[in-house]
Amino acid sequence: MSPHFDKATLVDAVLELIRKTSTQLPRDVIAAMEKGIANEEEGSPAKSVLSFMLKNAIEAETNSTPICQDTGTNIYFITIPVGVSMRMVEDAIIEATKLATKKTYLRPNSVDPVTGVNTGDNTGIMAPFIHFEEGDRPELKIDLALKGGGCENVSDQYKLPDTRLKAGRNLEGVYKCIVDAIHNAQGLGCAPGVVGIGIGGDRASGMIQAKKQLFRKLTDINPNPELAELESKLYTDLNTLGIGPMGFGGNTTVLSVKIGTVHRLPASFFVSISYMCWADRRHSMVMDEKGVRYD
Ligand code: SF4
Repeated sequence: MSPHFDKATLVDAVLELIRKTSTQLPRDVIAAMEKGIANEEEGSPAKSVLSFMLKNAIEAETNSTPICQDTGTNIYFITIPVGVSMRMVEDAIIEATKLATKKTYLRPNSVDPVTGVNTGDNTGIMAPFIHFEEGDRPELKIDLALKGGGCENVSDQYKLPDTRLKAGRNLEGVYKCIVDAIHNAQGLGCAPGVVGIGIGGDRASGMIQAKKQLFRKLTDINPNPELAELESKLYTDLNTLGIGPMGFGGNTTVLSVKIGTVHRLPASFFVSISYMCWADRRHSMVMDEKGVRYD
């Protein structure tokens, strides 16, 4: 194993990644919030709610305190180089998670669903959630998102065809599901949100793909032209629903829509929706022979 992938260095690096993710809104999310503020009417509740959110986020960054009291589910997507132990990386993440909880970058958020007991350190069965893939490059890349419970509660999954929505097994049917989900949320889950969508797969892989979409930059363009068009149409149409920030009305219901796909069985057509709140906390780190870099 290369010396720059030793566990102690990794624990420190992941601890900083957690601190950064909990306390700093990514620059593209700040830009999307500023665009939302500019699009709202002077004196409207939407403009003041968005401005308050942004002020809160900037203060959190300045003071290195969590952007929201709910520091959410810790979701890791990791690209690991050949020859580095997954168990070592997982152990380092668990250690960093416990330290981050002690330092109050994370709220104790991991509850046993049977006993109701909180472990007190954000660890537990599948907590934090860690997804590994092996990469081609001699670097360890760790993407982390902190996903609040409120926005997870309004995430949803549809099965096409859907007779209630008159939605068939095509992109038009997918469109109807997304509009229905955002309409049902009515600002709950702390709008404006980022909508990650997974089309296809089974119930689990479709939702993982939906969550993966939340790591894309808000300004990127989907390489699939049909999906790029659907993302753009949904962004425009969802922002004309009039729901607005926290459901107070206005032109800013979503900050972005991102769509990925998974091959499906002929018998199933799922549309999985992972809704992320305005506190869209995600950052990445890369560790290689040059050291650690954060994004
Ligand atoms: S949904 Fe997001 S912004 Fe709302 S309380 Fe939860 S973490 Fe905070």
